[in-house]
Amino acid sequence: MAAFCRGRHRWKGTNYCFHVLTRTLTGKYDFDLVVIGGGSGGLACSKEAAQLGQEVAVLDYVEPSVKGTKWGLGGTCVNVGCIPKKLMHQAALLGTAVKDAKKYGWQIPGPISHDWATMAEAVQNHVRSLNWGHRVQLKDKKVKYLNVKGSLVDEHTVKGLSKAGKEVILTAKNIVIATGGRPKYPTNIPGAMEHGITSDDIFWLRESPGKTLVVGASYVALECAGFLTGTGLDTTVMVRSIALRGFDQQMAGLVTDYMEAYGTKFAWKCVPKRVDKLPSGALQVTWTDTRTGKEETDTYDTVLWAVGRAPETKALGLDKVGMQLNNHTGKILVGDDESTSVPNIYAFGDIGEGRPELTPTAIKAGKLLARRLAGHSKELMNYNNVATTVFTPLEYGCVGLSEEEAESRYGKDSIEVYHSFYKPLEFTVAERDASQCYMKVVCERAGEQRILGLHVTGPNAGEVTQGFSMGLRCGATYSHLIETVGIHPTCAEELTKINITKRSGLDATVTGC
Ligand code: FAD
Ligand code: NDP
Repeated sequence: MAAFCRGRHRWKGTNYCFHVLTRTLTGKYDFDLVVIGGGSGGLACSKEAAQLGQEVAVLDYVEPSVKGTKWGLGGTCVNVGCIPKKLMHQAALLGTAVKDAKKYGWQIPGPISHDWATMAEAVQNHVRSLNWGHRVQLKDKKVKYLNVKGSLVDEHTVKGLSKAGKEVILTAKNIVIATGGRPKYPTNIPGAMEHGITSDDIFWLRESPGKTLVVGASYVALECAGFLTGTGLDTTVMVRSIALRGFDQQMAGLVTDYMEAYGTKFAWKCVPKRVDKLPSGALQVTWTDTRTGKEETDTYDTVLWAVGRAPETKALGLDKVGMQLNNHTGKILVGDDESTSVPNIYAFGDIGEGRPELTPTAIKAGKLLARRLAGHSKELMNYNNVATTVFTPLEYGCVGLSEEEAESRYGKDSIEVYHSFYKPLEFTVAERDASQCYMKVVCERAGEQRILGLHVTGPNAGEVTQGFSMGLRCGATYSHLIETVGIHPTCAEELTKINITKRSGLDATVTGC
């Protein structure tokens, strides 16, 4: 057992001294592995390592948001990302379902309305239960959890600093950094930080944000705007260039067309200039419409900045150990095995340069890293063909290359794009417009027509895309796809029947069964 100082020096309920842990647990070091960051990746890595018999500690510390929002163990996904987002997306979908329900015979007295406070409380309670669950899991798996801010002292030593200012030193054979990222504020817009919030705050608001301006046009912006509109709020998205940069732009257009049709306003090609708080408490936003050059203003109750995320490296003391970063993104440069430029120190998840910023990749990469560090495996994370979904009111799921990317890599004449506009059965009785329900499969044109990319907009597009992503992993071809027998009546089955090529110019609207 580690020796420890008496009484006041002991770390909450453990044997760890605040000043130094004696190097007896694993021989030379206190731990086999110290993980800095208890988010999706860090928790997965530390639990896997402990299960393989390693002595592991995980440090997690949440710096409150600029607005003072705080949360518990579990990182971005659990507290201010995937989980509260998907639940609020569900709240919005239910609103649409209630409207559909009337057409299906449900007698719903009076107009329906949404109560933000009820939703927020339920979502926040669920998140708290997950925080608790993570703590219990760490305890069960014998991972030492310390609620301290970690920084590097040298390639085997980490310093932890508690909220109360107390220090703990931990030594480890290997150190893993999985500290993720935090939302950015624009730096050149007066009033932006003072009066605006970010995704770190929106899910923890107890009261409705009211009329909201969402600035930005990627995943976070569109998903938040989607559930805000869907829960009945007057919502505008301010887009300075294009929506969903990096995604297939035809699909991005369908996503925003649907949002516009269902009530989200878009201020296209507009650049925010300043935010002022009026005596009434309303926020007056001034922006330039770059198409006309004109300055315009409007007032909002809330301004939500969704203008990207910055890696969380500030507190880590990376310069002390000479860690190499990408100067542009500030992320840590990593090799295929998640190694950094410093021996014995690894980094992965959102903090790793070039990695997808997604929870499942962080979890999988963390588990594989733990197995390699424990000497149980040599398997590397395969970051190719990772499926993802944008949880907008009409979901957009995709895996593999966009049509633009396939064209630029292979040449327009060397790819074949099969596509179809389909009508989800549930839209028919509800008399919903299905103009934006679309799917396309991008294939190599020659030979067996290997599938390069698959894209779907429609209800439950995430669920649809997940299964097909396994096909891409296995090298699926167009023949495999159409040899697959569909499940009727589903949206997913339309993929197994897709047969109109874009090149043919034929109408791609699905008719009949
Ligand atoms: P994180 O989960 O961010 O965890 C890092 C942890 O380290 C945090 O708890 C942080 O407080 C802590 N930390 C930082 N510095 C220190 C330090 N010095 N010492 C101790 N602890 C520290 N992904 C999906 O796959 N699907 C989705 O639907 C999805 N939705 C999202 C919605 C939003 C609004 C956002 C913002 C993100 C979403 N993501 C989604 C992305 C996903 O949340 C991240 O990719 C994922 O959480 C990254 O995991 P990570 O372990 O790298 O970092
Ligand atoms: P992104 O970096 O992907 O997008 C930032 C957006 O903000 C872009 O539209 C950008 O426009 C715009 N922008 C940047 N600066 C300004 C400015 N000063 N004024 C106006 N607009 C500005 O960030 P996100 O935060 O949306 O997403 C981060 C990552 O989180 C994603 O890459 C994704 O991996 C992950 N995530 C995953 C989700 C999921 O799986 N469903 C959901 C949410 C997030 P421009 O294109 O012109 O630069």
